[in-house]
Amino acid sequence: MTDDIRRRMFAELDNKQALEAAHEAACRYIDGIADRPVFPSPAALQALDRFDHPLPDEPGDAMAVVRELDETGAPATVAQIGGRYFGFVNGGVVPASLAARWLTDAWDQNTPLYLTSPIAARLESVCEGWLRDLFGLPPETVAGFVSGTSLSNVCALAAARQRILTRLGWDVARRGLDGAPRLRIIASRAAHATVSRAIALLGFGLDRVEWVAADDQGRIDPAGLPALDSTCILVLQAGNVNSGAFDDFATLCPRAREQGAWTHIDGAFGLWAAASAGLRHLTAGIEHADSWSFDGHKTLNTPYDNGVLLCRDRDALVDALQATGAYIEYGDQRDGMQHTPEMSRRGRVFELWAALKYLGRSGIDELVLGLHQRAAQFAAELAAEDFEIINDVVFNQVLVACGDDTATDATLAAVQRSGECWVGGTNWRQRRAIRISVCSWATTEADVTRSVRALVAARNSLPGTT
Ligand SMILES: *Cc1c(COP(=O)(O)O)cnc(C)c1O
Repeated sequence: MTDDIRRRMFAELDNKQALEAAHEAACRYIDGIADRPVFPSPAALQALDRFDHPLPDEPGDAMAVVRELDETGAPATVAQIGGRYFGFVNGGVVPASLAARWLTDAWDQNTPLYLTSPIAARLESVCEGWLRDLFGLPPETVAGFVSGTSLSNVCALAAARQRILTRLGWDVARRGLDGAPRLRIIASRAAHATVSRAIALLGFGLDRVEWVAADDQGRIDPAGLPALDSTCILVLQAGNVNSGAFDDFATLCPRAREQGAWTHIDGAFGLWAAASAGLRHLTAGIEHADSWSFDGHKTLNTPYDNGVLLCRDRDALVDALQATGAYIEYGDQRDGMQHTPEMSRRGRVFELWAALKYLGRSGIDELVLGLHQRAAQFAAELAAEDFEIINDVVFNQVLVACGDDTATDATLAAVQRSGECWVGGTNWRQRRAIRISVCSWATTEADVTRSVRALVAARNSLPGTT
């Protein structure tokens, strides 16, 4: 039996039918993206019932596996790589980055150590330098390559805790938090949910956070900031997940630094503003922070999942994430797991490197600025159609209302059903809002206009309107 499965798999590698079929299906998917409903049809979702069968008793063949995914799976995908998906902050895919993913998936590298993948280690070092340079961060800044900003925020707060408690003579890894010196966390009421989760997960206690009020755009109010000291972690934000607003780093970061506090910036999608000459004013002052989180999979449009932590205090980060074992051999080359909480890890740096290499400085600038320009176009065209734009469109996010909450929600539901585009909903300053995130390079001016038409049609379809 075991011999048989091995023979079968050698044959799959030999004839490559499944690999080539997968490639052909993926290319066909890409070609058809504009004709696909942006959210799967009810029939496509119904067809997912076909997957509900018991685990097969016997091996199948690889072609059949690929075919099942292509035939039943693909129609139930969200057409995220097309130009009319504006949900959450998801991002499309830079072709060179996808191609790099395909190639390097075949390499199947595990990347904790230089020894397990010298190429991954080298490209992590290269990207670390490029990112530091792109965002204008201090030369001592190091990078950890993780799944996303969720985890990057956890790592940053762990490093901050390590630094502050070490300074106070407390080894938190050994002694834990029980009885530890008091450490303060200051965060905005408009902080992202993953900041709260990181705080909870690390045992700081959400009730002990000193929450600071945010203004009408979701920016932390500098006047509401308590006095800081060297036991403080200040969490700021580049890109509010609803409004896209940026905290006032130029005021806050130097102030925190003077007072010896650790500043972390959650810049999941917004940190990329620093890479665009036309938007860089939004991130002025970030270089005075201590750590920064951002995603490749959002604004930069790498495939999922791709997050990065940048931290100027390497020792604190490495000590916070330390892992040792008799079989782990750290060398004098870069060992990526010293900067991440995982051990085994796929080579997600490959697609990040490919996107950066392909786009270059000017391509990144153009991509990021383009998202803003399409968002501004959205706001202008919607306003001309009597929708209400309820945020300042400083980056890629547009918040829209049409009359009361009931009308806004009904319009949202109708446009989601249309399959023409996909936008999400949110609550913003005690109102319901339609939330538009322009975060794919593939969104054209025509996509924006078509989506605006779909929103107008959705609003006009409501009972009581003509
Ligand atoms: C998306 C987002 C996160 C979480 O990032 P993931 O990549 O989804 O883990 C955190 N903060 C902000 C502001 C975000 O937009």
